[in-house]
Amino acid sequence: MAKPKVAFYWCASCGGCEEAVVDLAEDILKVVEAVDIVLWPVALDFKYKDIEAMPDKSILVSFINGAIRNSEQEHIAKLLRQKSQLIVAFGACAHLGGIPGLANVANRKEIFETAYKLTHTTVNPKEIFPQLVTEIPQGKLTLPEFYDTVKSLDQTIEVDYYLPGCAPPPDLIMKGVQTLLSGNLPPKGTVIASEKALCETCPRNKTKPDKMVIKEIKRIHEVIADPEKCFLAEGIICVGPATRGGCGERCINANMPCRGCFGPTKEVIDQGAKFLSALASIIDANTDEEVQKITESIIDPIGLFYMYSLPTSILRRKQGV
Ligand code: SF4
Ligand code: SF4
Ligand code: SF4
Repeated sequence: MAKPKVAFYWCASCGGCEEAVVDLAEDILKVVEAVDIVLWPVALDFKYKDIEAMPDKSILVSFINGAIRNSEQEHIAKLLRQKSQLIVAFGACAHLGGIPGLANVANRKEIFETAYKLTHTTVNPKEIFPQLVTEIPQGKLTLPEFYDTVKSLDQTIEVDYYLPGCAPPPDLIMKGVQTLLSGNLPPKGTVIASEKALCETCPRNKTKPDKMVIKEIKRIHEVIADPEKCFLAEGIICVGPATRGGCGERCINANMPCRGCFGPTKEVIDQGAKFLSALASIIDANTDEEVQKITESIIDPIGLFYMYSLPTSILRRKQGV
């Protein structure tokens, strides 16, 4: 019997999600044995035309990581949707827009100005910027169109399942692959992880006082964090209350607070707003000046509260740019 066909593809990605597949170590052999990989640009030399030539829905599942930032990524995501029975948004960038999605605080023009003109290490006296089409004696060179707004995968194509995390942990990847290959499919739209918030499974939860109040915000590099105590109770921002569990408390176990890469739980629409509300409920301030002082001590609130989820938040992007 022919093996099921599987594709891996990366869009606006750091490569970490590809690395996560390699991190399956010997388990990757089980995957390779069970499936026929038809596209995996980081590892194997398949061409887009190979995929275009395949019958529609002939790929069982395509795992797509990375956000949608340009026209090539959009085109291949749509092509894989056409050729695949199932699409899995693999990792925080595909799931929620991820770290590339923080670029939604600017527009294309501002990003190009910064990258190709304003940075201290850039010398560009002729102000040459990337062009969609460049004529050279040998013909035309083309580049994908760089979009104004970063999107999650499901803002571009229909997505069947989500494997969360930056990057998804190996045990969850194996669980996802085995579930999809078994044919015993969960309901469409399932995020393959815990339904509980991270705080509920965090070993430090028991150290939270009955009534939690904080008078100041400390940044993780400014203190030596107690390896047993709840970060938030110590005044260190930890996005656990607004984040889905299932990562194995990876950061917490390394004595680092959660930054929210598993995204919100099912009931939460906006992860950043949910965390802001949790934080506001524990801040102990009696005067406007005290409130002002505490809020000013939160450096880069968008980067902290929406580190992985700005494109799928209610705000989605900075307005008016
Ligand atoms: S989810 Fe994390 S590891 Fe995966 S591509 Fe995005 S930034 Fe990289
Ligand atoms: S706030 Fe952070 S450290 Fe505290 S219980 Fe939740 S996840 Fe754990
Ligand atoms: S602790 Fe938070 S940021 Fe770290 S892996 Fe888990 S969900 Fe992601």
